[in-house]
Amino acid sequence: MQNQMEVIFSACPQNESFARVVIAAFAVQLNPTLPEMADIKTAVSEAVTNAIVHGYENKGGLVRLKAEYCDRRMLTVTVQDDGCGMEDVETAMQPFYSTGDGAERSGMGFCVMQTFMDAVDVVSKPGEGTTVTMRKYITGEVGLHRERMLDEIS
Ligand code: ATP
Ligand code: MG
Repeated sequence: MQNQMEVIFSACPQNESFARVVIAAFAVQLNPTLPEMADIKTAVSEAVTNAIVHGYENKGGLVRLKAEYCDRRMLTVTVQDDGCGMEDVETAMQPFYSTGDGAERSGMGFCVMQTFMDAVDVVSKPGEGTTVTMRKYITGEVGLHRERMLDEIS
């Protein structure tokens, strides 16, 4: 089965939690375990925060959150902004690299995304914006267990 969604929202801090709720409501269809769901929400939150804080430099704009799955196991999430973009994505993705306010930013956002998702791909162009694509394989062990039990009793 295939399913997809797209939500466009303002680049303001209130929408960080909005994005977490939206991705959770979509991902729950894949029957993820609680830790898998927490990973997805955290990774999306990091990407959305980056779009708001770095992409649009806290001046606002629009963030696009897209998600899709086509085999009930692989979730693909895209967070896109039309902000300032990055000169050098490889450097930006290094642990502890940050152009942000040192007191608030630790330079670990991309590392968090890479740790919690199975693949993270970043495409960025200075002056044009950034697209972060993340994929996660959903084991949904708890869900599988439930399906097996349902099979057995049916
Ligand atoms: P933390 O996420 O730990 O609070 P951080 O945001 O600086 O700190 P990362 O999320 O790893 O760390 O991002 C590293 C750097 O990459 C940022 O400091 C910024 O320079 C750049 N960057 C990340 N996302 C974007 C974006 N959407 N647009 C422009 N630059 C970005
Ligand atoms: Mg960050």
